[in-house]
Amino acid sequence: MNTLRKWGRKMTKIALFPGSFDPFTNGHLDTVERTSKLFDQVVIAVATNTSKNALFSLEEKMMFIKQSVEHIENISVKEHSGGLTVELAKKIGAVTLVRGLRNNADFEYESTIATMNKIQHKDIETVFLMSNEKYRFLSSSLIKEVAMFGGDVSSLVPVGVNEAIKKKYAKIK
Ligand code: ADP
Repeated sequence: MNTLRKWGRKMTKIALFPGSFDPFTNGHLDTVERTSKLFDQVVIAVATNTSKNALFSLEEKMMFIKQSVEHIENISVKEHSGGLTVELAKKIGAVTLVRGLRNNADFEYESTIATMNKIQHKDIETVFLMSNEKYRFLSSSLIKEVAMFGGDVSSLVPVGVNEAIKKKYAKIK
């Protein structure tokens, strides 16, 4: 535990990892596993679906994540039902927002969001973890695209997600 003591008080470092997770992939899992080693607690905040293109419901998305992180003690999963992410961070006592960086496109996008978040709440830092090389190409949207056409994504997503995505597209066809 990297719990710090400041003026005799214990400080628990909580990191918030927000995202759409539609669906949760092995890239997300890798990032969250690494984050769990850096902070006392990690809260994964799952966005309520705002786009009509969402494949999985909030409940399904949360269930996949809970199953996938069962082996990690200091991770919890909660709903992010709109509003500013920094407000959620403040509410749960998180000092840090964690985001993954895969490439330049992520950098461009994430740096603007991080700057805006900093303006909203100067005490909350955004920390970026470089994506594992193995998963740099991986996104939830690419998974859906490939799975929709019957491609094999079993090595790229947790088992439960793979099963569910196959069923989902079998129904749609
Ligand atoms: P959002 O809509 O908030 O970008 P995502 O579910 O797409 O939600 O991503 C959530 C977070 O996970 C983002 O910080 C994103 O950069 C990161 N992420 C997505 N895919 C990967 C991956 N393959 N490797 C590492 N981080 C990833």
